[in-house]
Amino acid sequence: MALVFFNTLTRRKEEFVPLVEGQVRIYTCGPTVYDYAHIGNYRAYLFEDLLRRHLKYKGFQVTQVMNLTDVDDKSIAGVRQTGLSLEEYTARYKKAFFEDLDTLRIQRAEHYPEATKHIEEMVVLIQRLQERGFVYEADGSLYYRISSFPEYGKLSHMRLDRLKCGLRIRADEYEKEQASDFALWKAWEESDGEVFWETPLGKGRPGWHIECSAMSMKYLGEIFDIHTGGVDNIFPHHENEIAQSEGATGKPFVRYWMHNEHLIIEGKKMSKSLGNYYTLRDLLEKGHDPVAIRYLLMSTHYRQQLNFTFNGLEGAGNALRRIQEFLNNVGLSKAEKDNPELDSILEDARREFESHMDDDLNISGALGSLFTMIGRLNKLMTGQGVSQSDAGKVKKLMARFDEVLGVMEPAAKKNESKLAEIEKLVRQRQRARAENNWSEADRCRDELSREYGVILEDRAGSTVVLDRESGTMLIDVASRSSG
Ligand code: AMP
Ligand code: ZN
Repeated sequence: MALVFFNTLTRRKEEFVPLVEGQVRIYTCGPTVYDYAHIGNYRAYLFEDLLRRHLKYKGFQVTQVMNLTDVDDKSIAGVRQTGLSLEEYTARYKKAFFEDLDTLRIQRAEHYPEATKHIEEMVVLIQRLQERGFVYEADGSLYYRISSFPEYGKLSHMRLDRLKCGLRIRADEYEKEQASDFALWKAWEESDGEVFWETPLGKGRPGWHIECSAMSMKYLGEIFDIHTGGVDNIFPHHENEIAQSEGATGKPFVRYWMHNEHLIIEGKKMSKSLGNYYTLRDLLEKGHDPVAIRYLLMSTHYRQQLNFTFNGLEGAGNALRRIQEFLNNVGLSKAEKDNPELDSILEDARREFESHMDDDLNISGALGSLFTMIGRLNKLMTGQGVSQSDAGKVKKLMARFDEVLGVMEPAAKKNESKLAEIEKLVRQRQRARAENNWSEADRCRDELSREYGVILEDRAGSTVVLDRESGTMLIDVASRSSG
């Protein structure tokens, strides 16, 4: 089946064909680094991560650019409040952002251009727009005249004649009902303090929208494959990006526009301005597992709203545990013979997983096929069991799925180190017993029970470690002679 994406521009699912065969160039609107990002923002970055991972899974070479908006109305307000320089003020949020990306296992983009380091490119782009007659001046600032771009509104599907046009807006964000001429270059005002650049356009700073046009075209070329963001970016931000880029180049800017729906909470968009948000750090402080947060935020189709609840987060944790338990059990199954049914179960799962993901990243379908496979294999394992070579095939396919999902490896690693700790304590106990040091042996047994929830069965020549709740055998530690 072909790879298809829903294109906001055409409001249709379309087959994805990149400009250059085998390569995909993606631009994603990144964070405004004036504060810690909330988990709604991370829903957007996780959708983009899933997109990136799936494209890579399919064998595409991906070049992804994510901007860091490190100058805007909000960061300037932060500078005013704290007395820090703009650079100092945004540095801590940039650092926090990258830490959060790692915590959520979001793969790094190829470029993270910062707005403040690309002022020159923005100035040149504004000059190109001036030459082509899209720009006018008011009070020293430069504005884009949207009526001079007849296609304005094509992304958000708004009819200009139905809107209140002709207004002029200096603020970076504004409401849907106002199609407005927007600021490309903002002349310095006293409230900007030390934040300004002296340029051929005067003393001032760029507007928000020009940043993404300038930096995307610098790193990806004047025409590129995919541009993403949350649905709130469609208007005015992305509409304005199109007006700027296509106005300046006369060429189509982006071929596929993809937008994620919001993370909502009690029916409202999670946002800083409403105050109804959790940062990633808030949830980690409450003791929640970052991998479960990742799973929760990515496991609903990106074009559906996702209502955040703590029950949902618990459900995500349970789903992960099922996957993890399955992986553990596969490792323990030691049937003599290969199972004749195994190959077709794996092949069905692989085919279904891929065709769901190819269908506009239908993640719920893909996870459905993963869990169907787990159910079928669990049946095999309680019956005849699977051989070591079968187990190898299962693990290989799971690892392949995890290239897209990114949820199995960290837990597996944690598990490995947990098993190593358990084994160490079991050996300590075996040594104590060999030396008739019964109090130390009991102490080890108690610690194993308390810290790891396991019980021990001493057999001739070995100690078997079982999970107390499920009764699953975790490891069998052979006793070594103490000589
Ligand atoms: P911002 O820092 O506000 O520019 O947002 C960064 C990204 O997060 C953009 O792609 C937004 O569209 C997206 N975003 C903001 N709030 C939410 C939300 N509640 N749910 C999903 N995405 C969001
Ligand atoms: Zn942007």
